[in-house]
Amino acid sequence: MTTKELYTKDARVWVEHPVKVWEGATVTSDYRSGVLIVKIDQTGEIRQIKIKDENQMPPLRNPSLLIGENDLTSLSYLHEPAVLHNLKVRFCDRNAIYTYCGIVLVAINPYYDLPIYGDETIMMYRGQAMGDLDPHIFAVSEEAYTKLERERRDQSIIVSGESGAGKTVSAKYAMRYFAAVGGNASETQVERKVLASSPIMESIGNAKTTRNDNSSRFGKFIEIHFDELYRISGASMRTYLLEKSRVVYQSAGERNYHIFYQLCAAAVNMPELQLDHQDSFQYLNQGGSPNIDGVDDLRAFNETRNALTTLGVSETEQANMFTVLATVLHLGNVQLYDCDPDAEPNEDGADGAHISSNDKHLQTVCSLLGISRAELGRWLTHRRIASAHEVIVSRMDVQRAAFARDALAKRMYGELFAWLVRAVNRALDTGHAKKHFIGVLDIYGFETFEINSFEQFCINYANEKLQQQFNSHVFKLEQDEYIKEEISWKMIDFYDNQPCIDLIEERLGVLALLDEECRVPQGSDAGFVAKLHQNCTKYPHFMKPRFGNAAFIIKHFADNVEYQCGGFLEKNRDTVSEEQLECIKSATSCRLIHTMFAEDRPLDHTSTATLPPPSRRRTTPSLNIGSLTQPPRRASGQKQTVGAQFRASLSALMCTLSATTPHYVRCIKPNDTKQPFSFDPARAVHQLRYRLLCLHKDVDRTNIKATCGKILKKHLKDPDKYQFGATKIFFRAGQVAYLEKIRAEIQ
Ligand code: ADP
Ligand code: MG
Repeated sequence: MTTKELYTKDARVWVEHPVKVWEGATVTSDYRSGVLIVKIDQTGEIRQIKIKDENQMPPLRNPSLLIGENDLTSLSYLHEPAVLHNLKVRFCDRNAIYTYCGIVLVAINPYYDLPIYGDETIMMYRGQAMGDLDPHIFAVSEEAYTKLERERRDQSIIVSGESGAGKTVSAKYAMRYFAAVGGNASETQVERKVLASSPIMESIGNAKTTRNDNSSRFGKFIEIHFDELYRISGASMRTYLLEKSRVVYQSAGERNYHIFYQLCAAAVNMPELQLDHQDSFQYLNQGGSPNIDGVDDLRAFNETRNALTTLGVSETEQANMFTVLATVLHLGNVQLYDCDPDAEPNEDGADGAHISSNDKHLQTVCSLLGISRAELGRWLTHRRIASAHEVIVSRMDVQRAAFARDALAKRMYGELFAWLVRAVNRALDTGHAKKHFIGVLDIYGFETFEINSFEQFCINYANEKLQQQFNSHVFKLEQDEYIKEEISWKMIDFYDNQPCIDLIEERLGVLALLDEECRVPQGSDAGFVAKLHQNCTKYPHFMKPRFGNAAFIIKHFADNVEYQCGGFLEKNRDTVSEEQLECIKSATSCRLIHTMFAEDRPLDHTSTATLPPPSRRRTTPSLNIGSLTQPPRRASGQKQTVGAQFRASLSALMCTLSATTPHYVRCIKPNDTKQPFSFDPARAVHQLRYRLLCLHKDVDRTNIKATCGKILKKHLKDPDKYQFGATKIFFRAGQVAYLEKIRAEIQ
């Protein structure tokens, strides 16, 4: 089918539009070479489009009878404007937020509470095949649950999308579905605990950001366990990379973790913590946006407490938790001076960091934990430097002291988070052996900002791995299909992102070079980038930026991302002053501190991904995941870097996922103003451009083989454009669309 034959008078096309992205137009006269004349449908404007390259003609529109299809793969044309238009029609005109795209469920955030999540809806989807009812998160959940039974193979639901797109909400609905259909009302009430884990994790791991009032600042993989009768028998959770910087710093319009504000709201009931209004704490007020619309922090506090009680966290443990949190807040208010504030006016105060002898916050920290004020005061202002022959204690400058104090606060919060995840896991572990599981992965999607740092690097690395997992799953499905149909075509357009992963993971790749630079005594961010530029240019996915040498570019599957190297070493090392840590660990009045920092606990996932273990660990920890891969071994006394831990936990996750049948949910954020059912095409298309990958099945099931043969022979001159399988016909791209066009013309 030539271009001239497709672009005839009245052919319907899409032309680009600066706001709508694409708009409908109709060809006014048969295409000759070089120019296509169209009439814009909405405005009637006639436009001449210069065609430089006939491979880049304006895309053709689908026949109107296909508009609003609930599976995008049933469209004849599956190009960007077609996908966008179809999603928009469904979303805006029909309030249909869910659409299939082959094996992917596309979910557009409605920012509106739809009455489609109640028990009646759950019962409606129970026992139904995926295509029989409207697309829904419950349909995907049902599919996973049925396949668990039918295939006797573990399942996973992988939810992705950018911040605020609806991942966490989708994951919660999936879990609610399993709780309802796999519920085991009799004894342990595991499902009640599974549901109660959400408010706890959200209060300590979610925060208000400019994109989402309840943004998860960690990734999580929750496994729902089932017994031999496919009833829920327990659950477990792994978490990934908690954003700890938020504990000490928030950008404008953002907040720290919800739990802190909840605690301040409830302060009057806990006078011993000496808390005050949230605005009086440095760690809580930097964003200048202390409240969230529609959220009552005091009420949320009570919900958190109830959920903790449901999960068996005792009153004492809860009180201890609040003590640790209050300590963090007071620590942030310890005032550091650059000369001695207690010195007489004429006296020379020595240079460097000082704390006033009557700093009440330092006093509170020490009395809350039961530690020596003199010791902590000393190590908040001094550090120990060990050389080959001697140990020197020197006063830090204010900047370094503030940095060290913040690192301590972050470490304490991180350990508390990890402890809570372990507590949740203990509560969800009923002691029953898990026969089967369905895992739900809720993890940050691909990110690219103006300035990208170590965090974006890790997130994008994770997405690269997930994309690879998706690719190989789709590849396998297609291969299976070809084998079943006895088709001999080779897969030609399989995008393999292993080369990009190699760039990150290989012996002289980004992670290894970063670790190496962290180990050398004079290591620096600049030294790290220099190493990259020296060693990585041979990788096709690596690029030097055009200007400067403080950054590097990785060509990810989704986009090229430039990473600024500033802070990479520090974030990868994640060090905290050993002396400060020892002080904290000497706590006599908060038992939780000892549990949190317990040295010889197994390094399970909950902590692997969030925090480096204490540096003095002597034993080599093992991952708590049975037969799966072990993290790289390390010499005793040497601390594992954040990057290395993340890599190990990702690799364990990939092992787990690849032993399951995956189901994919791709969440789309339709606008940036949280308007109900408002669809900003430019925003949506940005997420679709690199996110939507489909199984392209151009299949005609309506005719028997011979009839099809005749029809095809008549219309498709070139026999290489299609092939017969045992029960299906396979077409080269564009052929079905052509047939559709002919069909539309005949009608
Ligand atoms: P993400 O986890 O992707 O960052 P969330 O799941 O937290 O995003 O969703 C952000 C907000 O969007 C939610 O707090 C809720 O207000 C709204 N939202 C998301 N999904 C839905 C849905 N299916 N129905 C109604 N509102 C939703
Ligand atoms: Mg979330």
